[in-house]
Amino acid sequence: MARVYNFSAGPSMLPEQVLKTAAAEMLDYKGSGQSVMEMSHRSKTYDAIIKEAEALLREVMNIPDNYKVLFLQGGASSQFAMVPLNLMNKNHKADYVITGQWANKAYKEAARYGDAHVVASSADKTFSYIPKLDPATFTPDADYFHICMNNTIYGTKYHTLPETGNVPLVADISSCALSEPIDVSRFGLLYAGAQKNMAPAGLTVVIIREDLIGNAMDITPTMFNYQTHADNGSMFNTPPCYTIYICKLVLEWIKNEIGGLENMKKINEKKAALLYDFLDHSKLFRGTVVPEDRSLMNIPFVTGDADLDAKFVKEATEAGFVNLKGHRTVGGMRASCYNAMPVEGVEKLVAFMKAFEAANLK
Ligand SMILES: *Cc1c(COP(=O)(O)O)cnc(C)c1O
Repeated sequence: MARVYNFSAGPSMLPEQVLKTAAAEMLDYKGSGQSVMEMSHRSKTYDAIIKEAEALLREVMNIPDNYKVLFLQGGASSQFAMVPLNLMNKNHKADYVITGQWANKAYKEAARYGDAHVVASSADKTFSYIPKLDPATFTPDADYFHICMNNTIYGTKYHTLPETGNVPLVADISSCALSEPIDVSRFGLLYAGAQKNMAPAGLTVVIIREDLIGNAMDITPTMFNYQTHADNGSMFNTPPCYTIYICKLVLEWIKNEIGGLENMKKINEKKAALLYDFLDHSKLFRGTVVPEDRSLMNIPFVTGDADLDAKFVKEATEAGFVNLKGHRTVGGMRASCYNAMPVEGVEKLVAFMKAFEAANLK
């Protein structure tokens, strides 16, 4: 069977070249006589892999030296607890902006450990926009300010960051990491579940400013303390070895094939523009997000008729465009166009949508 165009929100497509390299190295990684899956995480060979993955991430994302890169497990969802356990321990306060389900889950978890304050929410319009933020409403002595940078389910993204002054900005970048350049120095902490845009599932990447490490609450489990992992080079326990190796291959692909995140952004903008331009002119389909807050990665759209949406998803699947069904809270469709989705995949999807429109417009 030919490979499909997979528009899943995550786990999602990986670059074909990465899969081919992994396949070629599966039985014998660079003359070691073993798969990366089988080798000791304390071996010299594996040590080189994890060090190279970190060095590449630092280079590709231009991460300043006063930040630690941690390769963890437990998903972005574990960070919803790890962030407050480690950071909410000076004034026991934090600000949250509720822009969707992930942001809300992060907020609810933080509220278990301290005074979590909702600065703004876009729940009133099914999270179809990013709220306008007024710094006068921010908690001046908050330990941090949390945002979900790209809202995977609803297809919104912050195009300008909140001005939080000395309060560290913390962002969930699970669904936009590596999609475009990001000024890491604007943040105290960034975290991402890798399965959207960095690697397969199993790896969680944390980028944290060093001064924010070392102030965890006493109740913090050892494994949930950033210090534990920072002090041990993400090797306190067995890291997700194979996923880190694939992440290294993805970073090599971005660096060598794409030419870095500026180029990655251009390609992602091209893909998103193809779909948004079509949606803006379509008589059958429409996007669900206000134009100024649209995501580059996750693009929800509807026909306004649930039966027609279902027919579209079914016919699209048969044509090789899979996982286009939208999240149940939005309905309709969602096309997630992460880095590994080729431009050609979006061009073909738009052509398919045009044909569907012509056949189904009454
Ligand atoms: C997928 C996703 C999560 C959840 O990630 P897990 O790794 O499954 O815990 C959290 N936040 C955002 C923005 C996501 O897209």
